[in-house]
Amino acid sequence: MKEIILIKNGELALKGLNRATFEDILIKNIRKRLRPLGDFEYRKEQSTVSVIPLDDETDMNEVSDRIGRVFGIARYSRALQVPKDMGDIKEYAPKYLKDQLSCAGTFKVEAKRSDKKFPLTSPQISAEVGGAILEKYPHLKVDVRNPEITVTIEIREKFAFIRGNQLKGAGGLPTGTSGKSTVLISGGIDSPVAAYMMAKRGLVLNAVHFASPPYTSPQSEDKVFRLLKKVASFSGSITFFTVCFTEIQEAIRDNCPEDMFTLIMRRFMMRIASAIAEKEDSKALITGESLGQVASQTLPAIACTDAVASFPVFRPLIGNDKDEIIAISRKIDAFDISIEPFEDCCTVFTPKHPKTKPTLQMLEEAEKNLDVETLIERALENTKVTVVGF
Ligand code: ATP
Ligand code: MG
Repeated sequence: MKEIILIKNGELALKGLNRATFEDILIKNIRKRLRPLGDFEYRKEQSTVSVIPLDDETDMNEVSDRIGRVFGIARYSRALQVPKDMGDIKEYAPKYLKDQLSCAGTFKVEAKRSDKKFPLTSPQISAEVGGAILEKYPHLKVDVRNPEITVTIEIREKFAFIRGNQLKGAGGLPTGTSGKSTVLISGGIDSPVAAYMMAKRGLVLNAVHFASPPYTSPQSEDKVFRLLKKVASFSGSITFFTVCFTEIQEAIRDNCPEDMFTLIMRRFMMRIASAIAEKEDSKALITGESLGQVASQTLPAIACTDAVASFPVFRPLIGNDKDEIIAISRKIDAFDISIEPFEDCCTVFTPKHPKTKPTLQMLEEAEKNLDVETLIERALENTKVTVVGF
């Protein structure tokens, strides 16, 4: 028997005239994500997309896991395709849904017939399949109002399909429907979460990381790569720029007032990320900042970093507490990597008493001994590009 996947396209349904385009992009994204797992047929009917494996050996657990990470899918189900025969349906429904039914207390059966010539009516199908399930799982009770498991039997043109409860999809909008954006990624907890959240709104991601060898180690770069890999399992591949930041940090250390180190550094990050975004046709920057979390994330400090960005800066975590951010970090399986103890360039040359109420004037004064243009040009020349696959 063949297992297939049915996808209802939740949020997309609201997109009116754009809906068809959004659906096409969604199917293209699913195709890309499933390509390494074999050949599939994609069938579009009303608000449902069916994904049908063409190879009997396909690993449907892996298929389901990957589909669960594709943005733009609100809910989806795994379904078993069986012959349109009551004997087969009654035999396979209890077997196929064993995992769900054996742990549940209550269930109901719903039948849908698009083939009106099928000899049994929907209530008759439900009653017969319900009886077959109760025979195998006598501990179950039928609850038509609020069942733990809803078993759905669909009688279609060529086959019947058996499915249990729907699975929760990744939500959001299909990757690519909102354009492209560049995330400033550190090895911390916040920025991978910020990247994930903005990718969920349909953005393709580029990532920029600032490394300061020998103050920062190759392991800390590898850590960022592994974090991006977690994000890419949702967003699709990410073009990853690693910028050598050492010369800039040393120039700041040697020429600027200590209480401004972090802020000046952050302004360089914004300028360089803006230059990379410009070249990559990316239309926004993303950071993992959260209001008031550290000295460089006060309102006056954020205003000073924004002043040198040439694109809108998205800070999806601005209103979140750390524990809320950690919950998402765990959900995307990034947390254990984020807490590995490798240094970030932000922790090199940190001021003892960072300024929390800077003004633009103060910063421009503090940067006056730096050749900003040349430093940026050299850092851009000293940039490594890799692709993080999903
Ligand atoms: P995170 O957990 O994301 O590291 P944080 O709370 O440690 O954040 P900061 O170190 O002040 O905060 O950094 C604020 C934001 O600046 C980060 O969320 C990230 O977007 C960006 N950032 C910090 N360090 C780097 C870096 N080395 N390379 C690229 N971006 C960085
Ligand atoms: Mg950090």
